[in-house]
Amino acid sequence: MPLKKTKKLNFKLLKELSEATGAPGFEGNIRAIVKREIADYVDSIEVDNMGNLIALKKGTLKKGKKKLMAAAHMDEIGFMVQHIDDNGFIRFCPLGGFDPKTLSSQRVTIHGKKDVIGVVGGKAAHLMSDAEKKQNPQLKDYYIDTGLDKKELEKLVSVGDSITRKREFLQLGNCVNGKSLDNRMLVFVLIETIKKLKKIPHDFYAVFTVQEEVGIRGAKVAVHEIQPDIGICLDVTIANDVPGAAPHEYINKLGAGTSIDMMNGTVIADRRMVKYLADLADKKKVPYQHDVMAAGGTDGWAMQMMTSKGCITGGISVPLRNMHQEVEMCHETDINATLDLLQLAVENLDKGDWKNV
Ligand SMILES: [Zn+2]
Repeated sequence: MPLKKTKKLNFKLLKELSEATGAPGFEGNIRAIVKREIADYVDSIEVDNMGNLIALKKGTLKKGKKKLMAAAHMDEIGFMVQHIDDNGFIRFCPLGGFDPKTLSSQRVTIHGKKDVIGVVGGKAAHLMSDAEKKQNPQLKDYYIDTGLDKKELEKLVSVGDSITRKREFLQLGNCVNGKSLDNRMLVFVLIETIKKLKKIPHDFYAVFTVQEEVGIRGAKVAVHEIQPDIGICLDVTIANDVPGAAPHEYINKLGAGTSIDMMNGTVIADRRMVKYLADLADKKKVPYQHDVMAAGGTDGWAMQMMTSKGCITGGISVPLRNMHQEVEMCHETDINATLDLLQLAVENLDKGDWKNV
């Protein structure tokens, strides 16, 4: 399907990022795209031993320069090949949190010596007992069928290879829909913001982290390395504005603007950062909402807690429906608002009130 154009959004890049593959620990493909896109716009790029890509754009202040870190994770939920049986069916381990019921008969790519397409097989309803029909399937009930027998398959695929979901990126109405918008959406936002930044006061470390989906692993290493003073986490958040949910259960609404983080399962956002972001959004008329969620975790956790003195940390998110399911959905208004607010936040950081609490 050809991509519809809007003035502001580079859908071609967003499509490429959504469709690119990179399970936790296997982020090479997605990292190469990020590198290609930002190389001309930053002062330095480093890839650490963990695989985090750390780009630095230097600030212009002569005195009292702080380190601002923004983190967007590059990895997507995926699997690893655990076993190939005598009939060539693959059993797998999850890399990240899946809802098993969303996997039945979905296409995946197994990244072996060559990419091999497979389909996650499950039992047909015709063969299920009444009890089975009422139960949610478990990951252990699934296998991957590539259409190849064991001998043919083992020429291409080995235990330990990574597996990702295979899905086309589409535009639906005023929304975008595709796999792994968690967190390719914010990878996109960070790339596009880097390209637009004008004069910035403080040093800006734009970090594309690895292995977030398996427990915020890459960000911990990047934070040790950078020791940021101020942190902005960039990740998607839940929009539960769907039939059957009451307004108090929405968390966020699609199309209502960027989401300024208040809390999730691992971070209570620093109030100085919440105020800074909300004041900027009010002043510049950027639509926003607030995000209060008791569950989930983000790279913000590592930024807030892994420096010796703590880091003033908050976050900006793009709301998303169908999180961690086959295809996820975001709204153009929210993407544009997130781009605007991140750029404002980086360019005006010297105007924030960062005094000690
Ligand atoms: Zn995420």
